[in-house]
Amino acid sequence: MTGSREMIADSRFVVHEPFENKGKWNQVFGNDHPIQIEIGMGKGRFMMDLAAVNPNINYIGIEKYSTVLLRAIQKMEENELANLRFIRMDAEDICEVFDKGEVAKIYLNFSDPWPKDRHAKRRLPSRQFLERYDAILAKDGRIEFKTDNEDLFDFALEEIEPAGWQLEAATRDLHHDERMLAGNIMTEYEEKFSSLGNPIYKYIIYRN
Ligand code: SAM
Repeated sequence: MTGSREMIADSRFVVHEPFENKGKWNQVFGNDHPIQIEIGMGKGRFMMDLAAVNPNINYIGIEKYSTVLLRAIQKMEENELANLRFIRMDAEDICEVFDKGEVAKIYLNFSDPWPKDRHAKRRLPSRQFLERYDAILAKDGRIEFKTDNEDLFDFALEEIEPAGWQLEAATRDLHHDERMLAGNIMTEYEEKFSSLGNPIYKYIIYRN
């Protein structure tokens, strides 16, 4: 039986040599549209729904694990989108994949909480990751972060200023915040946790 790694290796929806495209991502899509990325994409529903409604934006979904990425690839096979591609990689190496200012927006959705203090630097909204995002995000770019985990959200809020970023907007109950909910696209985890009655936390940050 073919394993998930082999199936990913054969997929035309995956960019197999992401490091070679640093500074050249517009060539991958064949246009100059802005590039937005989701880090820790999971099964890709959020990226696919966004890409379908915004054909003039290019999307790249980044996922560390093959088994999860495979689910996104299978969905793309049923409904191919020209403005969406996937990368299998650890986001720790993101600065080797995108050039300075090459990314217009970064989405972090339901990032793994890494609850132990000694693992704080692995959390995707940590100051260590914010430093990496600073290196690849356009000057006026934004990071949008959603989670159902209050501790992770509190941690993420505390990281903003020390990392040199600023809060543009935040809510502790996205689904009852009319202004921030406008245009919201649900992720797989968001659907699961909000259906259990959990509030969804969200922030948008930027830097000057
Ligand atoms: N964003 C999706 C959603 O909201 O439905 C999936 C959320 S899931 C809890 C977190 C995902 O992030 C997992 O699929 C995990 O493998 C991925 N992930 C965690 N750390 C990562 C990293 N350093 N680089 C790439 N992906 C990562």
